[in-house]
Amino acid sequence: MAKLYYESDADKALIRSRKVAIIGYGSQGHAHAQNLRDSGVDVRVGLREGSSSRAKAEAAGLRATSVADAVGEADLVMVLVSDTEQTEVYENEIAPRLKDGDALFFAHGFNIRFGLVTPPDGVDVGMVAPKGPGHLVRRTYEAGGGVPSLIAVSRDASGKAMELALSYADAIGATRAGVLETTFEEETETDLFGEQVVLCGGVSALVTAGFDTLVEAGYQPESAYFECLHELKLIVDLMYEQGISGMRFSVSDTAEYGDLTRGPRIIDEHVRAEMRSILDEIRDGSFAKEWVDENRAGRPRFNELRAAGREHPIEKVGAELRAMMPFVSGGRKRLEDVSGG
Ligand code: NAD
Ligand code: MG
Repeated sequence: MAKLYYESDADKALIRSRKVAIIGYGSQGHAHAQNLRDSGVDVRVGLREGSSSRAKAEAAGLRATSVADAVGEADLVMVLVSDTEQTEVYENEIAPRLKDGDALFFAHGFNIRFGLVTPPDGVDVGMVAPKGPGHLVRRTYEAGGGVPSLIAVSRDASGKAMELALSYADAIGATRAGVLETTFEEETETDLFGEQVVLCGGVSALVTAGFDTLVEAGYQPESAYFECLHELKLIVDLMYEQGISGMRFSVSDTAEYGDLTRGPRIIDEHVRAEMRSILDEIRDGSFAKEWVDENRAGRPRFNELRAAGREHPIEKVGAELRAMMPFVSGGRKRLEDVSGG
């Protein structure tokens, strides 16, 4: 078993001896800034000119400045702008104000791993990556818990970069849940692989293909939706709570026999070979290059594919069925409200 760090492993004084700049006040930014502040850390938030987040940060009792001023004041800079903005923000506003002895931190390794940001030699480069969205990083901290996190160092100029990362992780609440040491390579490559092959890409393609197959065979779209999408959550909850065997224990023997004999026919050797080539594209940098180029071009393919996904029949029937089950979306904003569709 890998070593996990908990509260008693962290040197709480390290992060409290630093002046921290949180750059960006989105999902992760608002959570890191408030958790650090509540843990007694000296924090300022660096925002872009005219940012609508300024009012929110100030309402939360934080001091907001320009990105340049925040970096200038601080000796630890946590970069929490979106991954596709980081190269530009780094080059224009962060790099010119970094000093030897500063630390530059990230919550995801993408820009460092693929060489899109190259910090100077005298700067510690670290990562504290919560394994959950920002609102949970804040909510669990306030409730006395935390979100498990990964820490890593890609340059240890001070000789204490990993201890500093652990101290930062502690101050956002992560050591209450468990902190795992990793590398920028492992965090970035496994994160991209997971979201492409299993979590986002794999699951949405599997659900859509199952739905299409039933509808094309003449079944009602409503049945296909309940079967292939709605019920997925119940199965995933069982796996989350009790593992795959625990899920199998809870379903019927007929479902379990179908799972054991049919699952490997769907995820067959061809699919596994494709998974390996997707992993190769991640590791050799070709996925990163494709995504950077796509952003430079104004995201034409991304926008087209996203629009096509929203037009798929599973979305139409799903919106109608969910409207009858308001408890399903709880208090969360629905896509139909956001996009006006
Ligand atoms: P986000 O999109 O929620 O927020 C980004 C913030 O940066 C926004 O407030 C935006 O206004 C601001 N911003 C954009 N361009 C800017 C600029 N030029 N100057 C100043 N501010 C600018 O992003 P996020 O999801 O919080 O992601 C931040 C980092 O955290 C990323 O590296 C991401 O990979 C990582 N991360 C995210 C999650 C998650 O679940 N959201 C989990 C772990 C790690
Ligand atoms: Mg991720």
